[in-house]
Amino acid sequence: MQSTDWKLETIAVQGAYTPADGEPRIVPLVQSTTYAYESAKGIADLFDLKAAGHMYTRISNPTVAEFEAKMTMLEGGVGALACSSGQAAITYALLNICRTGQHIVAAQALYGGTFNLLSQTLPKLGITCTFVDQHAPAAEIAAAIQDNTRCLFAESLSNPGTEVLDFDKFSTIAREAKIPLIVDNTFPTPHLCRPFEFGADIVVHSSSKYIDGHATSLGGIIIDSGRFDWTNGKFPEITEPDPSYHGLSYSEAFKESAYILKARVQLSRDMGAVLAPMNAWLSNLGLETLHLRMERHSENATRLAEWLAADSRVQWVKYPGLETDKNHALAQRFLKGTSGVLTFGVQGGAATGERFMNSLKLAKLVVHVADARTSVLHPASMTHRQLNAEQQVQAGVSPELIRVSVGLEHIDDIIADFDQALTAANQG
Ligand SMILES: *Cc1c(COP(=O)(O)O)cnc(C)c1O
Repeated sequence: MQSTDWKLETIAVQGAYTPADGEPRIVPLVQSTTYAYESAKGIADLFDLKAAGHMYTRISNPTVAEFEAKMTMLEGGVGALACSSGQAAITYALLNICRTGQHIVAAQALYGGTFNLLSQTLPKLGITCTFVDQHAPAAEIAAAIQDNTRCLFAESLSNPGTEVLDFDKFSTIAREAKIPLIVDNTFPTPHLCRPFEFGADIVVHSSSKYIDGHATSLGGIIIDSGRFDWTNGKFPEITEPDPSYHGLSYSEAFKESAYILKARVQLSRDMGAVLAPMNAWLSNLGLETLHLRMERHSENATRLAEWLAADSRVQWVKYPGLETDKNHALAQRFLKGTSGVLTFGVQGGAATGERFMNSLKLAKLVVHVADARTSVLHPASMTHRQLNAEQQVQAGVSPELIRVSVGLEHIDDIIADFDQALTAANQG
């Protein structure tokens, strides 16, 4: 039996899936595109949304549904939609309520892919975005909101800048403007931060990161708090009849789940960026150790950050777990731990930094972050390469910045590797 009183750790291990007598103990991997029915009427009712059930894996799948259900419990929402990647999840989360001629306000400390989506790709569909400095006073951020603004978007702990979102400020601005606050909670995961507790309305994740946790599966997920009032007059796509379902109104038919069910039965149906069952299965397995991993990632990163900060070969270190960090107070308010991601710059700038990265042995240079293995990446020449110099600075990416994803190896071995690579970089 599932209990609504379960702590996050228990949900991570046993949430959602409960086998009946004699059924598999582990969530079954249903590697099937389709489902068999006895009568044509049964399938017609599914198409008309009159009955619940799986009909085609582009709309839903039992294994994906288990992952969605567990993530819904972990975040404390009313429903979720898993997608093929974090980028797909963010795209759907926005397209579900934004159309041509409408506008988004986003914090500028963003993942490079999201910045490109908002600054380049969505404008081609007529959806524009104003980027704001998330540390600016509330009035300045609120001033960016226009009549056609449909949401406020920010990362709870930004990639790669590790800026911590002031949820109180952002949720107040969104509430006053009667628009939802959409938060990308990829880095903290629900174990370190539950955005709905701080006033967010919609949460998105790249589950390719800590949720999967082992760098096996791309995936993304949208979770709906069920608390935003879509009937406030600003969101006709949710309240007005949808001709593609014989004039159904999502808010009337699905009440507090209107947003997330619309995303499934409209966007997933028509655009199809669904999470593969195998990836859902692996991501769900990853969740079983999420709490243990996030605590060790945070602990190891704090130790490495402290070690780097004390080393004369290092120019600067940025990690909200450090007491001297400008985000430390926000992290203490909103995060239970600061994850395994930190950034730093070595003395000698980008050239020495490159030699440092090339000299690492245990840590590898990879285009990924937030998995069990320690890795490094140089955003200016990799993930944020498409941004110009000014945009890079806005996203918190300086030329010498090295992003470290501190893994689950023993901290002594990680520090020894960084030590020898710093020595090698300074000899070269
Ligand atoms: C990686 C990442 C994304 C994109 O996710 P993909 O699964 O790679 O598409 C979005 N937001 C953040 C914060 C990320 O770290």
